[in-house]
Amino acid sequence: MPIFQYQDFFNKANEVLWAPNVEKNAIGVVIIDFERFSELDGMLGYLAVDRIAEQVVKRLESSLRETDLIGHMGRHQFACLLSFLSTPSHAELAGNKILRILSEPFVQNGRRFNILPRVGIAIAGPAVLSVDELLRKANSAVCQARTEREPLKIYSMAIEGHMHFELDLLALDVAIEESRVFLVYQPQVDLSTGNVAGAEALLRWTHPQRGPIRPDVMVEVAERTALISKLTFWVFNTALRQCAEYRHAGVDIGISINFSAYNLREPDLVEIVTQGLDLWNVPPEKIVIELTETAIMDGHTSSMQALHAFKDMGLRIAMDDFGTGYSSMSLLRKLPIDELKIDMSFICNMVCNPDHERIVDSMISLAHKLGMRVIAEGVEDKETYEHLRKLGCDLIQGYLIGKPMPLEEFIPTVLAYNQSKGKGKRR
Ligand code: C2E
Ligand code: CA
Ligand code: CA
Repeated sequence: MPIFQYQDFFNKANEVLWAPNVEKNAIGVVIIDFERFSELDGMLGYLAVDRIAEQVVKRLESSLRETDLIGHMGRHQFACLLSFLSTPSHAELAGNKILRILSEPFVQNGRRFNILPRVGIAIAGPAVLSVDELLRKANSAVCQARTEREPLKIYSMAIEGHMHFELDLLALDVAIEESRVFLVYQPQVDLSTGNVAGAEALLRWTHPQRGPIRPDVMVEVAERTALISKLTFWVFNTALRQCAEYRHAGVDIGISINFSAYNLREPDLVEIVTQGLDLWNVPPEKIVIELTETAIMDGHTSSMQALHAFKDMGLRIAMDDFGTGYSSMSLLRKLPIDELKIDMSFICNMVCNPDHERIVDSMISLAHKLGMRVIAEGVEDKETYEHLRKLGCDLIQGYLIGKPMPLEEFIPTVLAYNQSKGKGKRR
């Protein structure tokens, strides 16, 4: 069975697709990608990886039919054109067979390697327009497989919708430039004084066609593209500028800013933070960097260096969503963490669930023993507020105090709230 390089595969596949009387439902394209090939380039060298690619081709040849075509589409990607499928579901059977034979370890330089194949499949169907379209759809399917960490995906309208969604989100780039993204601020109340003593900055973007986009989805897409650096730079600088603005207006509190795990590993993060601090003149001890438990605990050297650099600059660090990830007690003690934010999944049920209340109680004691402040998020009712106060929690954040709001609303809301506390009124 001949193996075609990209252009020849394309031409041959075209001949098959447009041959007279061909049954389009009986034609499918399989794209095969590998999770570990580029990693092996670095470990073994290009020539050794090329030898593994030759073994891949041999295995494909042995598992496909004479009438099928195999294409080598790039150093790490292969395509197969399957024809004469009895039913479209036979493409899935073929895909699974390919996965099975490529999941067996490969031997190179006397060592065994698993290269973790992923497969994306597209069926031509009567409305097919071109080989290019089939390859694009099979490619979308394999990308989706990678995102969902699945071994095999078949192209569907849902995948198409997801691809369009991701394409639309790339408009985030322009939205940042044109100031169409903005930050909202959610107050945090100190339980010992009853005053608003902090605020968390949260990202917002209303897409012109898709409406409001969830901030965690935005961050996830930005992480997969080159946008995350730009987004973080924008969030950090905007939060500091607006914090300086509300402090100037008499709201004498700090600001908590969310960073993602990916941010911590960016080489220019410390520089972005240093520049922001110089520019906006907010005292560093008033700035809290929020990072999820998973981000802090990833053990990456560069993440650790960034955390220590923040600490040296005088910033505070909060562990966000505490309780949802996996914390090592020894790291918790060693890392420069100032605050634990107990995840709202423990808070919202604690009044009616004694187990949750006990967990929250233990988290508060643990944090205090380690010299950290505790903040509970997702407090929606007065009863939970009182329970947390009795347990010795330091701060709370949640809809009971206020939803995240734009700066113009945040300033008068906090001024009024703290003033009412000053007059001895309780809310
Ligand atoms: P998070 O950091 O855990 O933020 C808290 C989320 O809980 C916010 O959702 C907030 O609106 C919501 N929340 C606060 N109080 C309550 C409550 O009482 N009840 C309920 N049901 N929800 C409450 P939001 O704004 O949608 O943010 C979701 C996530 O997106 C954040 O979770 C954070 O992980 C991420 N995110 C938001 N802004 C940024 C940002 O600027 N940078 C990064 N890296 N991530 C961000
Ligand atoms: Ca947060
Ligand atoms: Ca959180």
